[in-house]
Amino acid sequence: MRGALSKILATSEGQQMSDPRQHIMPVYRPPEEVFVQGEGPYLFTEDGARYLDFIAGIAVNALGHAHPAMVDALRDQAGKLWHTSNMFRVRGAEELADKICRDTFADRVFFTNSGTEAIECALKTARKYHWANGNPDRIDIITFTGAFHGRSIGAINAGGNPKYLEGFGPALPGFVHIEWGDMAAFEEAVSRPTAAAILIEPVQGEGGVRALPDETLKRMRELCDQHGVLMILDEVQCGMGRTGKLFAYQWVDGVEPDILCSAKGIGGGFPFGACLTTEACGEHMQPGSHGSTYGGNPLAMAVGNVVWDIISDEKFLAEVRRVSGTLQQSLKSIADSHPDKVLEVTGRGLLTGLKMKADPKNLQGLCRDKNLLVGVAGANVLRLAPPLVITDEHVREATRIMDEAVTEWAPA
Ligand code: PLP
Repeated sequence: MRGALSKILATSEGQQMSDPRQHIMPVYRPPEEVFVQGEGPYLFTEDGARYLDFIAGIAVNALGHAHPAMVDALRDQAGKLWHTSNMFRVRGAEELADKICRDTFADRVFFTNSGTEAIECALKTARKYHWANGNPDRIDIITFTGAFHGRSIGAINAGGNPKYLEGFGPALPGFVHIEWGDMAAFEEAVSRPTAAAILIEPVQGEGGVRALPDETLKRMRELCDQHGVLMILDEVQCGMGRTGKLFAYQWVDGVEPDILCSAKGIGGGFPFGACLTTEACGEHMQPGSHGSTYGGNPLAMAVGNVVWDIISDEKFLAEVRRVSGTLQQSLKSIADSHPDKVLEVTGRGLLTGLKMKADPKNLQGLCRDKNLLVGVAGANVLRLAPPLVITDEHVREATRIMDEAVTEWAPA
């Protein structure tokens, strides 16, 4: 149906009004609530109703909403300079890159506007590395079922989810998908002469909040080294303190990636991402090989420096580990009280969830009706990714509501 008629909605009173969403591309199905303000882990609607936010813009608002230090940094920068492009040096980007390289494996950083763009940079950097080292046939990126790496043509081909590829043309060559956890298939794929890199989330987000066992990551690193294949970690969702370490790979002794993608929490709500690389990988990305108009612009970097200073502090991370222990325990007791509905607690740190016996979409709605915001993820998981600054009191409030909601829940 086209034209004005399709744009008119009939209200229950019989009046006519236009749908304010009519010009938004219909790729999302948000609920009716409109949030207009945030404070710490709470969001407020136009009518002043308060919601406890345990999804944080899908693992983005790491420091909660309207963190005073972030607000000050953004206000201050907004009054000075917004944008010059990368034709010119950006002091804030140089500072943040220094801090990132001080605190991680990385020697080089490329700033982006999103997680998907960090992935694109990683894929290009991996292929360029092999090309520059005389192995132009090494183009295959090995990825895993349940993976989510973003929505660009490159990222949907990397993710390999048929639902996200449908309708968007032929699958691109150069991506090999193997079953999550199938080490035999991995060994075979990584030993092929065309293998360039593996791309993996240490904790899968969209795929069902699944944590990769530390020993598996270790074994993967060994096999990558043995076969000259690069390791790219997608820490867009699980990085920036979310598991209780600055990056999830830091849980595993002796394992460092060659390339790592960060986004979401790194900007705490200001949209930016970063592709981190070793010198051996980053050195081949010379002028002309990659770029971005906005990546690393002064506004993003003003916020990013503040977020990094707060989250990279070991005391802050220790508190994330402590409060995530409280949350995990409370979730376990919900699971124990409802063995007929809950299968297990999944994830790591503050990227966690309840794996249900059926699709939890209406359970998510029940929580929202009780003023708690949570997400869902693949494989029937109710997903939690609260701000990292939550307290035990917020954990008690959230888990009391979840317990009530699970009690009332009738799986569809
Ligand atoms: N990688 C992972 C693990 C993600 O969870 C996401 C987004 O949800 C992306 C990449 C893509 O990030 P963005 O939506 O910022 O492009």
